[in-house]
Amino acid sequence: MERLIECDRCRAPLAEVPDRSVVQTVCATCRFKFQVINGPLANKSGRQVGSHQRDYELRLEIGDRQLEIVRFRIARDHLPARPGDEIVVVHTMRGKQLEELLYVRNLTTGDIIRVGSPGDRAERSANALGFLVAAVSIGVAMTIEQYRLVALGGAAVISYVAWLWIDRRLEPKHQLSPEFAESRQATQGLLERKQACDAGRLAAVQSLAENEAHRERLIALRRKMSDVDIDLFKPRLDAIDRGLMTLDRQRAVDIALRDGYERAVKILDIELEAGAAAEQLGGDVAPLLLSKLDELRALEEQQADLKRELQANAEIEKLLHERGA
Ligand SMILES: [Zn+2]
Repeated sequence: MERLIECDRCRAPLAEVPDRSVVQTVCATCRFKFQVINGPLANKSGRQVGSHQRDYELRLEIGDRQLEIVRFRIARDHLPARPGDEIVVVHTMRGKQLEELLYVRNLTTGDIIRVGSPGDRAERSANALGFLVAAVSIGVAMTIEQYRLVALGGAAVISYVAWLWIDRRLEPKHQLSPEFAESRQATQGLLERKQACDAGRLAAVQSLAENEAHRERLIALRRKMSDVDIDLFKPRLDAIDRGLMTLDRQRAVDIALRDGYERAVKILDIELEAGAAAEQLGGDVAPLLLSKLDELRALEEQQADLKRELQANAEIEKLLHERGA
């Protein structure tokens, strides 16, 4: 799913790219909060800072003629984006405040510019505070005349524990009510399932295209052989006929897979939109969808068998391989 925003901390699926708007979302798994901006680029400006860095300002069109401005500094001189390109900007948040810019992604060109990682800023602050604690406790230990080594050891332990504690305290994690956490978890589960169904659909589409190419090649070869001498090529023609039959069955399975996954994606879309996530696929939909997905999995196994059958047809393997399949 091209348009899925994943948690930058734990990779859980968070949301789909919001259409020309700004949304905030909390990851139910790691409790980090994110802001996602999406919209076409109205214009951008850049200014060189020193010899290696550049300040950028992007203006994105969101909502009804509204502009969202994003400013950041990166250590490279080129941001691949033109007016009209669809841009996604993702920040982490601390409460209602933006914490750090994570990345700018150009959906039109596929480029991504990474600026930070979730928790970087908190870790820098924790390191600075941890260093302070270490300096003070070692300073105190040094004033002790007797058992100075023991005191220094104690200071090291205290510093380490304090650093761990500060690091954890400073992380921008958010408290969620149990109900909200459960509903978020359910939405993330739906998104995950949708992602898997979308991947299944894409695989079936690709397999159909491959099937078509193989079929054309075999039919063309068959025609050439029959034009020359049917008897001479008899064994090969038989192999080609068997291969074409396998390809037919493969195509039927692929079409069933493609349509099945397409339907599953539509059902999941409706559930996501309806916000039925709270009841985790409420009502009658869940068992129906799950049995459909089981059927699709069985079809996928059947498809793998057919693929093996085709590979076992040595003549076909050779013909397709020779032609650079
Ligand atoms: Zn997460």
